[in-house]
Amino acid sequence: RSKDNGKDRWSYFTNDMKVDSDAEARIEKELREAIQRDEIFLVFQPQVNIRTQKVTGVEALVRWRHPTRGVLGPGAFLPVVEKTNLASIVGNIVIDKALQAARAWQDQGRDFGRVAVNLSPSHLFSGNLLNDFHVAMDKHGVEPSLITAEVLESVFLDDARSDNSKVLEELHSLGVHIELDDFGTGYASLSHVADLPINGLKIDRSFTNQVLEDVKKEIVVNQLINLARSLDIGVVCEGVETDAQFDRLRMMGDFSVQGYLIARPMPFEDMSEWLASSPEDLLFVI
Ligand code: C2E
Ligand code: MG
Ligand code: MG
Ligand code: MG
Repeated sequence: RSKDNGKDRWSYFTNDMKVDSDAEARIEKELREAIQRDEIFLVFQPQVNIRTQKVTGVEALVRWRHPTRGVLGPGAFLPVVEKTNLASIVGNIVIDKALQAARAWQDQGRDFGRVAVNLSPSHLFSGNLLNDFHVAMDKHGVEPSLITAEVLESVFLDDARSDNSKVLEELHSLGVHIELDDFGTGYASLSHVADLPINGLKIDRSFTNQVLEDVKKEIVVNQLINLARSLDIGVVCEGVETDAQFDRLRMMGDFSVQGYLIARPMPFEDMSEWLASSPEDLLFVI
């Protein structure tokens, strides 16, 4: 009887695993078709200076216009992408489309600060990343100084991937800005930050959206802003959703904010219009 139980549990487990890997295989197959059919696209979300409200950057966020399931966010497919050799392909598409957008905004005479792309760890590790940036910069005629690469703290910490740091150092020396994304959620010690080739910290939404409710989070945000100022690097506070959060953050200094309060991620055309409108028209009023 116990043997049967064991067998049942085992076959159940096996079935479960099979469903999972089947689902993954299906997503991978659909993604390959999606790439062929140009279903991968970007939406854009602006970052503004908290004091002047001038745009300092525009983050590119990947989406998949799925033929039957509608528009999918990164959570629905990036985990599969990361496990396959699609990571470099999708990563390259993101870089290409982000720089294409930057080119268009330059041609339209729009000030967008810098265009920010999220680097996939697998793409970073693939050895293709630097070349992909060079190709896209040449193709679209976009200067490195108009680009930000957002990376997770973990890419610097993984010893097995120490080549990552070299790639990021090279990008950095080209003039591409490097920002640590979701800062505060990982393991980087504050002293470590001083040694990294980075231009800024993006303070994670989980801190930003608790500055009013949780005094410890408020203290951390304030200290991170002070640390960044001492190190002469920039700060972007992610996920600012309310006027009250904005006002509280504004007392802490001079940096950038990003979040639904300023604007939700939007398609390229809407972003172009947003950039074209005068701040008086579209930005919130303090
Ligand atoms: P992230 O880089 O931290 O991007 C910010 C995420 O927070 C975006 O979600 C954005 O839509 C969302 N967000 C912005 N403002 C607010 C706000 O005020 N409130 C709330 N609740 N959310 C806000 P999204 O687009 O779903 O992206 C999720 C994550 O997926 C990103 O987090 C990033 O880590 C990853 N990602 C997105 N695009 C790419 C990409 O092209 N390549 C790679 N490798 N990763 C990407
Ligand atoms: Mg990001
Ligand atoms: Mg982030
Ligand atoms: Mg985040």
